[in-house]
Amino acid sequence: MNNLKKETKLTLLYIAVAFSFSVAVRMIWFYQFANYEAFKFNSEFMINTNDGYYWAEGARDILSGISQANDLSPITSATSQLTALLAFVLPFSFESLILFMPVFLSSLIVIPIILIAKNLDNLNMGLIAALLASIGWSYYNRTMIGYYDTDMLNIVLPMFLLWSIIWAIKTNEDKYLIITAIDILIYRWWYPQSYSLEFSFFALILLYALIWDRKNTYNYKLLAIMMLAMIGVEGYIRLVLVLGIFYIYKQKRFDKYIYYILGASILIFFASGGFNPIWGNLKGYVFKDAVSVGEEGLKLHFYSVMQTVKEAGHISFEMFTNRISGHVVTFVASVGGFIYLAYRHKIMLFGLPLIGLGFLAYVGGLRFTIYAVPVLAFGAAFLITEAARYMPTKRLKFLTITALSMAILYPNIAHVQEYMVPTVFNADEVEILDTLKNRAGREDYVVSWWDYGYPLRYYSDVKTLIDGGKHSGAVNFPVSFILTNPQDVSAKMARLDVEYTEKTFKFKEDNKELIRDKNLTIFSNIEQMTKDYGFSDTNDFLLSLQTDIKLPDKTRDIYLYLPYRMLDIYPTVEMFSNINLMNAKMKERSLFYVSKMFKQEQNIINLGYGILFDTQNATITINNRKMPVKRFVQTSYSQNMKFSKDIQVSNPAENITVIYMSSFNTFLVVDEKTYNSLYVQLMLLEEYDKTLFEEVIMTPQAKVYRLKV
Ligand code: MN
Repeated sequence: MNNLKKETKLTLLYIAVAFSFSVAVRMIWFYQFANYEAFKFNSEFMINTNDGYYWAEGARDILSGISQANDLSPITSATSQLTALLAFVLPFSFESLILFMPVFLSSLIVIPIILIAKNLDNLNMGLIAALLASIGWSYYNRTMIGYYDTDMLNIVLPMFLLWSIIWAIKTNEDKYLIITAIDILIYRWWYPQSYSLEFSFFALILLYALIWDRKNTYNYKLLAIMMLAMIGVEGYIRLVLVLGIFYIYKQKRFDKYIYYILGASILIFFASGGFNPIWGNLKGYVFKDAVSVGEEGLKLHFYSVMQTVKEAGHISFEMFTNRISGHVVTFVASVGGFIYLAYRHKIMLFGLPLIGLGFLAYVGGLRFTIYAVPVLAFGAAFLITEAARYMPTKRLKFLTITALSMAILYPNIAHVQEYMVPTVFNADEVEILDTLKNRAGREDYVVSWWDYGYPLRYYSDVKTLIDGGKHSGAVNFPVSFILTNPQDVSAKMARLDVEYTEKTFKFKEDNKELIRDKNLTIFSNIEQMTKDYGFSDTNDFLLSLQTDIKLPDKTRDIYLYLPYRMLDIYPTVEMFSNINLMNAKMKERSLFYVSKMFKQEQNIINLGYGILFDTQNATITINNRKMPVKRFVQTSYSQNMKFSKDIQVSNPAENITVIYMSSFNTFLVVDEKTYNSLYVQLMLLEEYDKTLFEEVIMTPQAKVYRLKV
C-alpha cells in the first residue's frame, strides 16, 4: 500500500515537472518578442496562425450571441465552443486566452505519456518521453504559444485514447471501456477527421483479439463500445448509446449477448455511413490534380489551390526526422528504441497507427509528422532508461539519464529558439481592420485574397468571399480576376460575385430538399453568370464586362482590402484567373518582378537576377535582352503618411513599367497588364476611378476602398 502511494506521488510529480517544462519552453517566444510592439494589438500579443482567427470568430459570436446566416462563422465547432466556455469562466481577456490556450492544452500530452509508462512500470521512461514529446520539433511548431488551432488537442486526445486502450487491454477493468468510448466521443467532437485514427485503433484491437485473446469477451465489449462511439450519427445520440451499452455491460446476465451486441454495432456502423469518410480523408492530399473540372454544364476548368499549399508538398528525409525527433540521430534511436520497446512490451504496438499516420508525411505532406512525435519519443526514452539500467551505481544511473536526456532535448530547444515566427498581421494592419469594423456593416463584404479572409472577419466583423477554408479554384477565380484586372471590369466582377454568392446561399436554403433528393448541381458563380448573361463561353462573358452590362441589384456595400504584403504573392493570386476556363490552358504569365535588394552603379540599377535598369536611357535588360521602358514611376510617403507619385512616360508604345516605391525601398518591374491591374493602380499608385471607388482607409500598409457600383 505504501509503495503504491509512493508511486502515485512520483507519477504526479513527474506530470507536474513535465507539464511545467512544456509550458516554460513555450514561453521562450513570449519573452523573445516581449518588447516588439508590431506583434501586439491593444498591448497584447496577437496569434500567429491564420486559421486561429476562424475559431476566434466563432467564439466571439458565441459569446456575443450574434450570428448571421451564411457568415461562415464556426459557432458550432468544438474549438470555438471550448474557447467561448473558457472565456466565460476564466478571468483573462479573450486575446490572452487564445494566445495561451495552445500552451496549456498541448502540454496536457505529458499526462497520457507518463500514465502509459506507469503501466509498463517505467516511470523514468515516461518522464523522458514526456519532456521530449512535449517540445518535439513539429509538435512544438503546431502547438506553440499563439498557434491557436485544433492541433492543440489533436495529438493529446489520441494519446489519451492510446492510454485508455493500453490500460483496458492490460487490466480488463470496466472503467476503461467507458473511458475509451468517451475519449472517442470527445476526439470526434474536437476533430471530425479523427475517424481514420479511431478506426485504425479499432482494427488493431480486433486483430489482437482474434489472434491472441480469442476467448476473452472483454475485448469484444471494448470493440462494440468503440464502434458505437464511432457510428455516423450525432454526438449526443452516440453518448446515449455508449452509456446505455455500458449499463448493459455492468449486468452479468447480458454477458451471453456480447457477440450479438458487437455484430449489431458493426452493422449500425456501416448502415449509418460510418465507413464512408475513412478513405476520403486522405484523398485530397495524396491525389492532387492541378485543374479540377465541373461535372455538368459548361465543364469549366479551375486552377487548383493544392498546387500552392506548402504543407502538401514533399519533404526531405532530414526534415522528416527533424520534425519527428529533433535530430536524425534521435530519430534513428527512437525507431530502434521503439522496436526494442515493442519487443519487450507487445502492448506498445497499439501505438502503431500514430506512427503510421506520422510516416504518411512522406507522401501526404509535413503536417502529419506530429502524430509520430509522442509514440517515437517512447523509443528514445526507453533506450536511455535501458542504458542507465546497466550502470553499476545509482549515481552513474542518474548521470546517464540526465546527460542523454539533455542530449535529445537540446536540438529541439535550439529549434524553439530559432523558430521566431511572426504574428499573422502586424499592429498597423490590425489597426486598419479595427477602423474598418466601425465603418462596414456586418452584412457587407470585404473583397481580398483568401489569406486575409479569417483575420478580416475576426477584426472587422464583415463577410468575405474566400478564406482559409473556402479557396477552391472556382471561388478564387473571381477574386483573382478582381485583383489583377483593370478597375472598370474588376468593379463589375466584385458586384457580380458578391450578389451571386448571396443568391447562391439563398438558393441552397430554399431548395434544400431538392438539392439533397435530386442531387441538384450548384454551379460556380462564374458559370451561373455566364449563363444568366446569355453566353455559352465564359471568355465571351468576361469580355462583355468591358461593355455596359446591367449589374445585379445592390444589396449591400462592398469594400476592397488591399494590403502591401500582397505584393509578395501577386503572381500566385494571378494564377487563379490566368487560365482559360473553357479549355484549362494557362495563359502566359504576366511580368511581375519585385526587388528589395538592388545596387546602383552610376546610371545602372542592378535589380538582381541579371535585371538591369538604365535610368538615363530608360531601358531595362531582362534575360540579356535590352528593351525600352514605357514608364518609370516613383512613389513615396511623406512624414505624415501623405502619398505622392511621379510618373515619367518615356516610350508610350512599350510594355514595361518600372516602379520604385521609395518608402519601402523596393523596385517593381511589371508589364502593361499588371500595371493596369486593380491592385497596382489602387494599392500602389492610389490611381482610381472616382465613379467606381471611394477612399476609406489609406495607409502605406494597406488601403481600403468602397465600391460605388
Ligand atoms: Mn459576422
